[in-house]
Amino acid sequence: MKYYSLNHPKEKVSFSKAVVNGIAPDRGLYFPENIPQLPAGFFKTIETMDLHEMALTVMKPFVEEDIPSKELKTILERTLDFDFPIVPIDSQIGSLELFHGPTLAFKDVGARFMAQCLGYFNTRNKTQKVTVLVATSGDTGGAVANGFLGVEGIDVVILYPKGKVSEVQELQLTTLGQNISALEVDGVFDDCQNMVKTAFLDHKITTKRQLTSANSINVARWLPQMLYYFIAYKQLSTEKRPLVVSVPSGNFGNICAGMIAQKMGLPIDHFIASTNINDTVPTFLKTGTYTPVKAQPTLSNAMDVGDPSNFVRIQKIYSNTFEQLTQHLSAYRFNDDQTKKAMQDLYSKAAYISDPHGAVGYLGLKKYLEQHPEHYGLFLETAHPVKFLDTVEKTLETKVVLPSKIKTLFEKKKTSVPISNYEELKNYLLSS
Ligand SMILES: *Cc1c(COP(=O)(O)O)cnc(C)c1O
Repeated sequence: MKYYSLNHPKEKVSFSKAVVNGIAPDRGLYFPENIPQLPAGFFKTIETMDLHEMALTVMKPFVEEDIPSKELKTILERTLDFDFPIVPIDSQIGSLELFHGPTLAFKDVGARFMAQCLGYFNTRNKTQKVTVLVATSGDTGGAVANGFLGVEGIDVVILYPKGKVSEVQELQLTTLGQNISALEVDGVFDDCQNMVKTAFLDHKITTKRQLTSANSINVARWLPQMLYYFIAYKQLSTEKRPLVVSVPSGNFGNICAGMIAQKMGLPIDHFIASTNINDTVPTFLKTGTYTPVKAQPTLSNAMDVGDPSNFVRIQKIYSNTFEQLTQHLSAYRFNDDQTKKAMQDLYSKAAYISDPHGAVGYLGLKKYLEQHPEHYGLFLETAHPVKFLDTVEKTLETKVVLPSKIKTLFEKKKTSVPISNYEELKNYLLSS
């Protein structure tokens, strides 16, 4: 499988090149040259298939030129070593919990897969050391730090906005040490993001260090996210109603991975993109006009994105036609009051504690099911509620039990380097 830049379809690169580059030199996102079809027999036997065998069959066509099956299997075993349970909410709705990984966020799947791939390329080629440079508003940093910890040949530098991430999130990215460094930026997330973008274009830095990104733009973080849609389907083999999946969306990488799974043959009838008030995509589906906006802060802050990077990939999946897109995708937006109300509803009606992102997903699903009562729906619960402890405890007026993975964090010592402008980042990257 080759990958091409959505800006210049003629220039194709290998999977490993696409992973190391992150984004194409023409600033386009990489896209697979074709989407492989799984044979019908695959879905007949999926229920009893070994989970890692299944994952291997799904991922193999995307990476086989660069990673042999045996190594890919090992990578998948290390990536998927936790559960993805479906918790029933009522007879028509289930919560697909994606937060049972080491940092309690769905981003663990993509981050771990990407880390293992880069580690493999490095041991195979003994290439130049790679520096993963990433800006985070919260969950990405922890998942990337954890996924890359101790991976040979890779340094990770994470920029996060001082005082703007939760305590748990900060500890997850500042306490690991080894090949992981955290830079605490005197500014907001956009400042971090801008510094990272500037560094990628700074020849003085790029001649000294091979930089790559670790956000969902990177194909190695984006594509493995399709695996838990298959894992969910595997658990629903007795379900006869058509399946609809609601995905709380920010940069639209997660939902876009689900759509690739669907294109490969996975029987998902429809997708719902559930957003907070940062509603660029719901507005586009309503009006046909795509207008990026400046992101507004909300309770579901991992989805505070005004111009979702992966939306161009979604358009491509549906041949850049509005009709095909709306046939497969509905999108709804909800504000913080509605989100809190949904968290309370889930708690009082089903004794289910959700985080604000999952609650937005639940709301989108409810809205769709009102019009489509014959469907069965899943919403993706993308983070453990303790990652948003304040909001959850205040909204539900209850205490949330801390998982042991979190308790031990509070005993560790934070180490970070304060920076306040681009020159300081540049000096850091050139000197260390
Ligand atoms: C990153 C994140 C999202 C948004 O996922 P996208 O792939 O960017 O759409 C949703 N919920 C949580 C908890 C996240 O961390």
